[in-house]
Amino acid sequence: MSRHHLVVTVDNHRCHRYGICEAEAPEVFRLTVDGRLDYRRRPSAGSRDDALAAARGCPMQAIHLEVR
Ligand code: SF4
Repeated sequence: MSRHHLVVTVDNHRCHRYGICEAEAPEVFRLTVDGRLDYRRRPSAGSRDDALAAARGCPMQAIHLEVR
């Protein structure tokens, strides 16, 4: 198993809280009741594909993924 892991960051200035990321990767992204976007900065390896789909699907290109 790879020791590298995915690091997620979201640009809050770009994000308009459309929630597409939550639909693609609910285990990583979650819109809170008070309208914020909550997300796991280091999702598990099993969530990697979903996180990639979320980043691709974000209409604001607000999701940045990095492998460290
Ligand atoms: S899809 Fe993009 S703009 Fe929409 S809530 Fe997620 S990060 Fe924000």
